Amino acid sequence: MKAKRQAVVVGAGVAGLVTAAQLAHRGYGVTVLERQSSPGGRAAQATWDGYTFDLGPTLLFMLDVYRTAFATWGGDFDAEVPSVRLRPNYKLHYPDGGTLLVSSVLSETLASLERMSPGSSRGFLEYFAEAAEAYEISRREFVGERIRSFGDFLTPSKIKGLFETGAFKTLARRAQQAFKSPRIAGAFSFQSMYLGMSPFTSPLLYRLLLFTELGEGIHYPMGGIGALPRALDRAVRANGGAIHYDETVTSVEREGDRITAVRTADRRYEADLVVMNADLPYVYGTLLGEPNHRSLRMRHTPSALLIYAALDRRYDDLLHHEFLMPADLRATCNDIFDRGAIPDDPAIYLCAPSGTDPTIAPPGGESLYVLVPAPNLSGITDWATQTTELAERILGMIEARRLPGLRARIRFYKTRTPLDFHDELNLNIGAAFGLSHDVLQIGPMRPDNRHATIENCYFAGASTRPATGVPLVTMSAMQTVERICEEMPA
Ligand SMILES: Cc1cc2nc3c(=O)[nH]c(=O)nc-3n(C[C@H](O)[C@H](O)[C@H](O)COP(=O)(O)OP(=O)(O)OC[C@H]3O[C@@H](n4cnc5c(N)ncnc54)[C@H](O)[C@@H]3O)c2cc1C
Repeated sequence: MKAKRQAVVVGAGVAGLVTAAQLAHRGYGVTVLERQSSPGGRAAQATWDGYTFDLGPTLLFMLDVYRTAFATWGGDFDAEVPSVRLRPNYKLHYPDGGTLLVSSVLSETLASLERMSPGSSRGFLEYFAEAAEAYEISRREFVGERIRSFGDFLTPSKIKGLFETGAFKTLARRAQQAFKSPRIAGAFSFQSMYLGMSPFTSPLLYRLLLFTELGEGIHYPMGGIGALPRALDRAVRANGGAIHYDETVTSVEREGDRITAVRTADRRYEADLVVMNADLPYVYGTLLGEPNHRSLRMRHTPSALLIYAALDRRYDDLLHHEFLMPADLRATCNDIFDRGAIPDDPAIYLCAPSGTDPTIAPPGGESLYVLVPAPNLSGITDWATQTTELAERILGMIEARRLPGLRARIRFYKTRTPLDFHDELNLNIGAAFGLSHDVLQIGPMRPDNRHATIENCYFAGASTRPATGVPLVTMSAMQTVERICEEMPA
């Protein structure tokens, strides 16, 4: 009997696990090595004293991508990761007490817009239709299929798509044209921050994110986002793959242009091919010993300060997702993106899942997740000494603006900073979302999903093609598997 080709996957993030499940299903011998003790990477989950927290992603979009991925190994995403569509999506709060409700039931969004700024719903409908079109073109032309070469990308329909979606215009500028109210313009352009981009410099292309939220809706998997990597872990094993947690890959062995084995502190794993799910700049700089690789010089995304607060009592009027908007979004973005500083008036995102899913916290309690966009480690904050003071300041702001008596309800809280993203997940300069998505770093300009000369070294994840975000890294994995099956059949 022919021996199976052995694939070693470095990292059990979503992209690593999807790659592993698909390769195992297609007949490769698969071993996943993950330095953390549980699956998911950035999308991992932790439970402390009965309180469960999604540590990174909290918004599940584009469910069709997961349905397609699970179907490739005979799985059923909806059965294995049951989820609910949230209604409304979220509420935005402004410093003067004004609010805007955003819902995928468009009549609710329109009513809220009219309350805030009469007449604004007309501009919204036009803007939303453009977002829908940008989404459809991007799925078809830019991210839906693997880019095989630069020439592949220079087709008339793709170039037309770049102009039609607004790859060379600015998101905030179009939003300011569509809405007289700067608040509303901010409300429908800040979504680029999900990709680690400022709406004031981000290509207009990323208005497509508005469509993923409002057209398809924001979903919540019961048990939290962590339910997804857990289901993927099961899929890898059910298809015959092995996963070793608490195994940090320290180096690779090479013979000529091939990797022959992957090393951890005390073991050696022979490999016919390797898929690097650990973030790409770190892999080049550290595991492959190429500190001058262009990915390390490319623009990186900023990062985030996260606070996971265990509350003894939930707030009944707090929605699943809420945002405390700053008075001046542009000034806030300038602080993060240009000055490399935590803004005095930050944008604050709150996620309170216990109303949707009471199992996430002890009875009556809340697992409150707080995210504040922040610079990465190239900024001026000294996270080793300033984190507690910053976290206290943020909690004070939330208490004053939205959740009275908050600090008295906190049983304990934990933080995650750019330093943790760097030290725990090996994200270069603590950039939470990996490489940036400027127009010069997407499509064929984004690092390829295979090494140029080490022919059995592949990549899957946020900093390779097509992009960051849980659905996009799932696509990345599927595109990498497709390439492996063509180039190195099982
Ligand atoms: C705070 C935050 C909020 C986010 N919110 C959303 C959201 O709401 N919705 C959304 O769709 N996306 C969101 N994202 C983006 C999304 O989380 C990521 O794009 C996605 O999870 C990246 O997956 P990945 O598989 O590419 O990488 P990772 O999750 O980073 O996985 C890589 C794995 O490699 C492991 N590893 C690294 N080095 C080694 C080594 N030497 N040996 C062994 N293992 C190693 C790491 O521990 C990690 O588990 C968010 C990200 C962050 C940080």
